[in-house]
Amino acid sequence: MFDWLTDLWVDASGAVFEGAVQPLLYAAGWMQWAERAQEWTDFAILGVVQILVVYLVCRPLEAVRPVEKVTDARAIRTDVLYTLLARLGLLPLIAFVLLSSAERTLMGWLADTGFVPPTLETLFPALREMPLLALLLYVVILDFGEYWRHRFQHRFGWWYALHSVHHAQRQMTFWTDDRNHLLDDAIAAVWFGALALLIGVPPAQFVLIVMLRQLAESLSHANVRLDYGRLGERVLVSPRFHRIHHGELSAGEHGRNYAVLLPVWDWLFGTADFDRTSYPRTGDPDAPEALATGGWFRQQVEGFRQFARALRRG
Ligand SMILES: [Zn+2]
Ligand SMILES: [Zn+2]
Repeated sequence: MFDWLTDLWVDASGAVFEGAVQPLLYAAGWMQWAERAQEWTDFAILGVVQILVVYLVCRPLEAVRPVEKVTDARAIRTDVLYTLLARLGLLPLIAFVLLSSAERTLMGWLADTGFVPPTLETLFPALREMPLLALLLYVVILDFGEYWRHRFQHRFGWWYALHSVHHAQRQMTFWTDDRNHLLDDAIAAVWFGALALLIGVPPAQFVLIVMLRQLAESLSHANVRLDYGRLGERVLVSPRFHRIHHGELSAGEHGRNYAVLLPVWDWLFGTADFDRTSYPRTGDPDAPEALATGGWFRQQVEGFRQFARALRRG
């Protein structure tokens, strides 16, 4: 059902590779890297499409109904850099590919012992006939995993030391979504990729889910006065809902609104704040200044220092 999307992607990637990347590699005498470069092109194409779609959706909204005036353009440029690094490398997909090969090895080993671990489709074979329902189930299960990963990011000192890079931004825009410590990104990728493999998400659907999620996540960081109404706020995370999570009073252990896509988890576990009139100032008052206004590299170094200190404290 989603094969046409995969075909389109493979065709586009092939065209870009042959038209631009391959000639460059040839000119530089780096043809031995061709296979790696082809894989990277596959990921980068998705990243470019994502950034374009996100920009076209979010930028007009931020222009029409901003929550606050932009006073620190430099802080936004840092977030743009984060976005380019994350989306053109697409960590989760890379992790999925790495984990897939790890899984193949593991499966081969398990097959020798005669044990086949269940996936959602082997547990409920009817799902094979209902790809949309299967997709929805994958989205819900993965989002549940993300809710708890986010809870733990705030719960454990060493993890919040890394996650505070995300919360330190006082000039939040749709670019802020990817503002994360590299180590935190790596943990997130393994967490998400491992859960996807565990429930048996097919690769084509995995790509689609990652694309849609990231669009929703970027939108939820946008500097826009927007909520989805009394009912909608309980169905899908809005810019209003996630802004409360980034509020100065919500940093660290006192967080509200952890959900990434579906607010139902905050509702269920008692961490929701549905006050639709509230658009707090964002930032982490306890974070060192370097995390808020330092460049990409300083934030990474400072984040790592905090992480090491937190580990020593235990
Ligand atoms: Zn958080
Ligand atoms: Zn956020």
